[in-house]
Amino acid sequence: MKKSSASLKKSLKDILEKRAGLIEQLIASGPVVIGNVYDVMRRCGNPHCHCAEKPGHRQTLLIYTRNGHRHCKLVRRKDEERVKLAWQNYRAFRKALRQIRALNQRELSILRADIINRGFCYR
Ligand SMILES: [Zn+2]
Repeated sequence: MKKSSASLKKSLKDILEKRAGLIEQLIASGPVVIGNVYDVMRRCGNPHCHCAEKPGHRQTLLIYTRNGHRHCKLVRRKDEERVKLAWQNYRAFRKALRQIRALNQRELSILRADIINRGFCYR
């Protein structure tokens, strides 16, 4: 289906605005932690502790890859909030990148369709 020039401009302008918003979001984002952060339940090893029955001590772990090797690091309780926030920033950052990629693809497909619609047959 052929798009009118006005509707084409509107579609492209919407994409530009969305992309600009995402880029603003990326620039405004705080520090990031690259990897994954998990809460796990552990045992402390004390046979008289409640955790002897069932793991009962929450620990926060940071899993990351460096030089092709996976690492697991215990996050200190006092750093948990800061590390989790930075991890959320990282996740939001990756999500914004995926959205930008999708917008770029949509923009290219709109432009490709438009150039095909402009083609005329010369004989
Ligand atoms: Zn315990």
